[in-house]
Amino acid sequence: MIRKLIAGGALLLLSCCQSVRVFAQAQMPLQTNASANKTGAHIVEHPRKCGIDQLRKAMVARNPEWAQKFKDQKASLQANADYYKQYKAQVARGERKTNTISPIPIIFHIIVDSAQFLNLGGTQGIIQRCDSQIAVLNADYNHQNADSTMIPAAWADSMYGNAGISFGLALVDPNGNCTPGYEILIIPGTSLTDAGFSNVNYAFPEAKTAGTGLAAWDVTKYYNVWCINFTGAANSLLGLTVPLSFTGGFGGLPVDQEGVCILYNTLGSVGPTNVPPPGTGSWYLNPDNYAWGRTLSHETGHMFEIWHPWGDDGPYGGPPYSAGEGYCPWSGPNACSTTDTAIGSDDGLLDTPPESQANYGNPTYGVSVPGGTITDCCKFWYAQDTLNTQPIGIACISFMDYVDDDAMHLLTPDQAAAVASMVLVSTPGGTGATGSGTIGENYNLTQNPGLLTPPCTPTGIAPSPTEINSSLSIYPNPTTGEVHISVNSAVETLNEIVVLNLLGQQVMKVSGQGKDYYTLDLSGVSKGLYFVQCNFASGSVTRKIVLQ
Ligand SMILES: [Zn+2]
Repeated sequence: MIRKLIAGGALLLLSCCQSVRVFAQAQMPLQTNASANKTGAHIVEHPRKCGIDQLRKAMVARNPEWAQKFKDQKASLQANADYYKQYKAQVARGERKTNTISPIPIIFHIIVDSAQFLNLGGTQGIIQRCDSQIAVLNADYNHQNADSTMIPAAWADSMYGNAGISFGLALVDPNGNCTPGYEILIIPGTSLTDAGFSNVNYAFPEAKTAGTGLAAWDVTKYYNVWCINFTGAANSLLGLTVPLSFTGGFGGLPVDQEGVCILYNTLGSVGPTNVPPPGTGSWYLNPDNYAWGRTLSHETGHMFEIWHPWGDDGPYGGPPYSAGEGYCPWSGPNACSTTDTAIGSDDGLLDTPPESQANYGNPTYGVSVPGGTITDCCKFWYAQDTLNTQPIGIACISFMDYVDDDAMHLLTPDQAAAVASMVLVSTPGGTGATGSGTIGENYNLTQNPGLLTPPCTPTGIAPSPTEINSSLSIYPNPTTGEVHISVNSAVETLNEIVVLNLLGQQVMKVSGQGKDYYTLDLSGVSKGLYFVQCNFASGSVTRKIVLQ
C-alpha cells in the first residue's frame, strides 16, 4: 500500500499574509503567569481547551438519558481503577496470568490544506511529528517522561502513576497493505481559517467521512487520530475525543467515530530542545505552550474514559466561566454533581483532589493561601480554590488538566489505573457502569501485534503513473515565485525537475536529489504560463502552473 497523498486539485490560492493564525481571544478573565517569561518568535497562544464537555452537553440535549449515562460512567471510574490495581497485585503474586499485550496501533489521519501542510514541515515534518508523538505517548503512559524531574516533591513518589500502555504506528492497513502510520488529505482552501472543521456537537463527522475527510480504520483494532484544523465554533479547541462510551444509542455518536481529533499543529513534539523538524517547514504555528505533544496525551486519557480533574462541573456563578472551564455542562437531576460545593466536585477518582476548575499556563508551586501554606501544589486562581485543604494541592500537573505542555508531568495512580482498566484487561462488561465505560472496552486494541509489523516491502514495486500523479503536489498555483513540489516518498522520489515555457523551451532544470520535497524559485522568471515536469525513475508527471 502506498502512502496516501491527495491533492485538492483545485487552484490553491495562498497569500503572503495567511501564514499566521490568530486564535480567538481567551475567554478566561484571568490569565496565569503562563509563558510570560517564555521566549521565541512564534508564540501564538490561547488557553488549552478541549471539547469533550461541550460534546457531552450536546448529547444530553439530543437525549436527556445521556446525563445519567455520563454520571454513571464517572461513578464507575474508581471501581475500574481499583479493579485494575487488584488485578495487577494478583498478577504480581502469581495468582493470575497476564495475556499478551501489544502496543496500540495508531493511525494518524491528517487533513490539511496546502499551507497547513507546509507548516507541518511537509511529508518529512509529518513523519517526524508522528514518530515524536508516539515517543511522547509511550513516555507519558509508561512512567518514562524525562520531565518527571519537574514533579513537585510531594507528588513525586506516591502520585506519579504508570498506565503501562504502549503505542506504535500502524504499519498495516485494514486491507493488509503497508502503511506508514499516517495518511494525508490535502483539501482546497484559500486561507488557514477556511480549511477546517467546526461541528463540535457531533465531533467533526465531516473529518471522519470519506470524501470530505478520511474515514476511520476499524476502531476495534486501530486508535484513530485525526489531525485537523478547528474553525468556527471549534476555533479555540485543541482537541476533542469520542471515547467508546459516547457511541451508540439514541443521541450517541456512530461507533466508527470513536477516536481523537487534535489541532493539526499540536501533533508531535519539539521536546525541550525546541528543535524544528527537517524539511522546509517550521514549528511556528505550533504554539510553544502546546509543542511537546501533550495535547494527544491529554486526549488519550479521555479516549480511555477519564475526565478532567475538576470533573467538568465545579462552581456555579462567580466569574464568567464558560462551558468547559468549570460549569457543569448540563443541569437537572442528573447534573454532574448534585452536591457541588464552592470548591467544586470531582472526576470520580480518589487521588485527584477536588478541583473547582481548570488550571492554565505554568502554575507555580508552594504558594500561600488563606488557612496556611500549601506546598507543592498548583496555584489557585479563584477565591473558591483557596478553600481547598488538600495537603498536596490539586492535580494541576496531570496530563488531564489544562496547563501548558511543559507544566503537565503525570497521570495519578488512579488516573493511570482507570485508563489501564480499559485496555489491559479483557473483562468487557465487567464491574463498570452499565452501558458505558466498562472495563476492557478497548482491550482489543492491544491484541493485534500483526498491525505493527509490515507484511510487505514497497521497494522494488514500480508504481503506476496514476499513483505517482495522485501522490504529487505542486503548489501554490498560481504562484508569485516559490513553487513547492511534494511527492509521497513511499511512491517515488524526485530525480529531476524541468520547467518549460509555452513553446516547450527549457526555463529551468534542477536535480530532485532523490528527495520527496523540493522548492523551486521562479521569482526571476517572467510572468506567464509554464509547465513543471517532474521526472521519476518510473515515469514523469507534468503540471501546468501560472506565475503571477
Ligand atoms: Zn480534555
